[in-house]
Amino acid sequence: MPDTLAHRLQLLQGDITKVQADALVNAANSSLLGGGGVDGAIHRAGGPAILEDCRKIVARQGGCNTGEAVITTGGNLPAKHVIHTVGPVWNGGHRREPELLANCYHNSLQLAQEHGIRTIAFPNISTGIYGYPKDKAANVAVQTVRAFLAQHQLPAQVIFVVFDAENLRLYEEQLTNLS
Ligand code: ADP
Repeated sequence: MPDTLAHRLQLLQGDITKVQADALVNAANSSLLGGGGVDGAIHRAGGPAILEDCRKIVARQGGCNTGEAVITTGGNLPAKHVIHTVGPVWNGGHRREPELLANCYHNSLQLAQEHGIRTIAFPNISTGIYGYPKDKAANVAVQTVRAFLAQHQLPAQVIFVVFDAENLRLYEEQLTNLS
């Protein structure tokens, strides 16, 4: 991968709600009304302003389909915006899961770009409650982000935030293979 692209990708282990970025991505569910995992952590840390914005979106368009993304305030988070995207539930891999997961990354980046966002942090979408195999998900995430960055100036920086040791190892592998 060209040097400039490698510099635009970063890997961090920890709680995404603490990350200083212009936008955080939330692994939401299609109701947009909150859930467990990273979704719960983002709403808890960001406060009620995020849910208020989500409710307005629900009133307007009735939730968010799998693979799509919407943007709200970041409320009390260090990040100014939260981009909510709905990952696919893993069903064995024959129900367009890879395409839908790639859409999550692509559509989140597209929305970020439209809002002039320079730095964006992603959790490992679908790899918790939704059961997507972590190795396959890491591959989709890194390839999709890399392809988008190669075509666009913004976002300038993408941070992959891993929570567990297995994802840390898998992302290290994916990012090393690219360089
Ligand atoms: P999904 O329903 O899309 O699978 P989850 O929230 O269950 O979403 O999990 C997505 C990923 O987010 C998992 O890898 C999980 O370990 C991780 N995660 C959970 N809490 C946090 C957090 N506070 N910061 C970053 N990642 C988190």
